[in-house]
Amino acid sequence: MSAMNAKRWILWVCLALLFVSQVLLFRANQRATAAQADAREAREQSNQLQIQIDELKASSVATLSLDNARLRSENQALAQKMAKANNDLTLLIAAKRKSDTQLQTARQALQLQQSHLQQLTVENQQVQAAAATPAPATAEPSAEEQKSLCLQNLRAIDAAKQMWALEYKKEAKDTPTEKELLPYLKGGALPLCPAGGAYLIGTMDEPPICSVPGHVMP
Ligand SMILES: [Zn+2]
Repeated sequence: MSAMNAKRWILWVCLALLFVSQVLLFRANQRATAAQADAREAREQSNQLQIQIDELKASSVATLSLDNARLRSENQALAQKMAKANNDLTLLIAAKRKSDTQLQTARQALQLQQSHLQQLTVENQQVQAAAATPAPATAEPSAEEQKSLCLQNLRAIDAAKQMWALEYKKEAKDTPTEKELLPYLKGGALPLCPAGGAYLIGTMDEPPICSVPGHVMP
């Protein structure tokens, strides 16, 4: 019977060991399943993160290229505006320079006319004084008086030339005709040399000339 007891005891031990090993195996399986689930979950999270990153990247690239295009077009518009402003400025400077030159010419012409007027006044006073003094027996004015009157005429013609050139923006090489000067002359007529000389109007950079020798503007 003891052999039988021993066999039964060994069987129980074997069964107990089998049970324990089954339990251990089951728990190991459970842990493995849980670990697999964790791994799967982690992989899914990782995939989702990757998708989000890709979306973010795509949207930021689109936004950046849009911004870039907008900035470039704004930049071009600004550059065009700046070029136009520069151009306008150049035109304005040129216009100002031109009007400065015209102003200076006008001022010079005015000064010339003023000095002519002063000379005319002085010569007029001299002529009046000469007329007041008893004249010599001859009615004919003296050669000196004729020259003085002729110089007044030449100055009047010169002043008329200056006004003509100023009004019509003429230059040094232009020559007015007698008819063109008439509106600027006293009585609307070219004066006559008292000694019978002929007047040559001349270009703007020359003084008018009388054909009588000595009848020359100083
Ligand atoms: Zn003369």
